[in-house]
Amino acid sequence: MPASVLWTTAGTGEGCAGVLPGVSSAPGNRAVDVVVIGAGQAGLSTAWALARQGFDPATDFVVLDADDAPGGAWQHRWPSLTVGTTHRVHDLPGLPFRPAADSLRAAEVVPAYFAEYERTFDLPIHRPVRVTSVSRTDDDRFLVRTDSGVWTARAIVNATGTWTRPFVPRYPGQELFGGRQLHTVDYRSPDEFAGQHVVVVGGGASATQLLGEISRVTSTTWVTRRPPVWREGPFDEDAGRRAVAMVEEAVREGRRPGSVVGVTGLLVSTPYVADALQRGVLERLPMFDRITSDGVAWSDGRFVAADVILWATGFRAAVQHLAPLRLRGPGGGIRMDGTHVAGEPRIHLVGYGPSASTVGANRAGQSAARQLRRLLHPDRALPRSA
Ligand SMILES: Cc1cc2nc3c(=O)[nH]c(=O)nc-3n(C[C@H](O)[C@H](O)[C@H](O)COP(=O)(O)OP(=O)(O)OC[C@H]3O[C@@H](n4cnc5c(N)ncnc54)[C@H](O)[C@@H]3O)c2cc1C
Repeated sequence: MPASVLWTTAGTGEGCAGVLPGVSSAPGNRAVDVVVIGAGQAGLSTAWALARQGFDPATDFVVLDADDAPGGAWQHRWPSLTVGTTHRVHDLPGLPFRPAADSLRAAEVVPAYFAEYERTFDLPIHRPVRVTSVSRTDDDRFLVRTDSGVWTARAIVNATGTWTRPFVPRYPGQELFGGRQLHTVDYRSPDEFAGQHVVVVGGGASATQLLGEISRVTSTTWVTRRPPVWREGPFDEDAGRRAVAMVEEAVREGRRPGSVVGVTGLLVSTPYVADALQRGVLERLPMFDRITSDGVAWSDGRFVAADVILWATGFRAAVQHLAPLRLRGPGGGIRMDGTHVAGEPRIHLVGYGPSASTVGANRAGQSAARQLRRLLHPDRALPRSA
């Protein structure tokens, strides 16, 4: 199991700093109106919208991104994920996404599109820059500490997604397992499992997709906590709106945003799902009760010998660096009011909860930028293009 995988959901943060080391000596403008953290779909749509709202990319805002290259989480997705097997990557605002073929790798085509987007709009992206903490200063700004010095800002847009916080639940005996355990983020190709029995854990889209692939080269067992909810009909706009509304309600109440699939169900008509169903691969077992050195066991005496446990058990929001701001409430989540933290209109979370999709991130980024212009520059006239 790689060190990147979380075994608990506890978030820690650095302490709050009262001084601003590096602010004046660092190159470039490090005292800005807005720091956007992350340059995936959410960060890029926000940056585009900030420019449209009259924020000058040369002086008023920066985007800090921890990755070495453009692409957000897409550059890290497994190689067999193609444009045609994603749920659809929506255009970023202002530049259409027109991949040449559905068979192309999402991990190559989407990053290339993002790179073109960054060039086209000349967005002020600094990378690789990892934000380690955000805290408040004595003069009511935000201090953004990074592995490349500090920035200060009047407002923050956090757009760090979830990919860097894979979640693995705890089960008794986990540490005794003699085989290999990995999370979706570590998956590369089904071929590495040939001849091994693979237990896939999780009831979401990634689990069904990976099962479909792996079951073509070796034997598999599927376990989920709850029986999967199969959706026969097409997933129309109404169903989409209902799903988003349920996640919106959760974050308004300060609960952790759940998985959207938990709300939408699994689409039977998706080709890889239909195929796997037909081959009998998606016969699900309830969650096992413990892990042994050589397999997984249920308290009713059942046992499945396993060489590999693949945890397709989802992600948590990557917001550890916001810990000094103490945003989490008793419900474990951050109470939201639209795109901003409830009671704090200067901290926006884009790509969080209801906006954790490519289309949701687009809308949320534009909404956050509009609100920030009204808040920080109420008298500034909008550029003609906005
Ligand atoms: C397997 C999988 C498949 C998916 N498929 C789809 C799909 O087909 N369609 C869809 O709409 N949605 C899909 N989603 C949801 C998807 O992740 C979002 O739609 C979207 O791409 C997320 O964009 P984002 O900008 O919020 O996050 P990301 O793309 O994860 O970008 C976050 C960026 O923040 C940076 N970052 C993180 N932490 C820090 C830090 N501390 N400091 C600085 N930078 C940081 C990262 O380097 C990264 O560049 C999928 C999710 C998963 C897990």
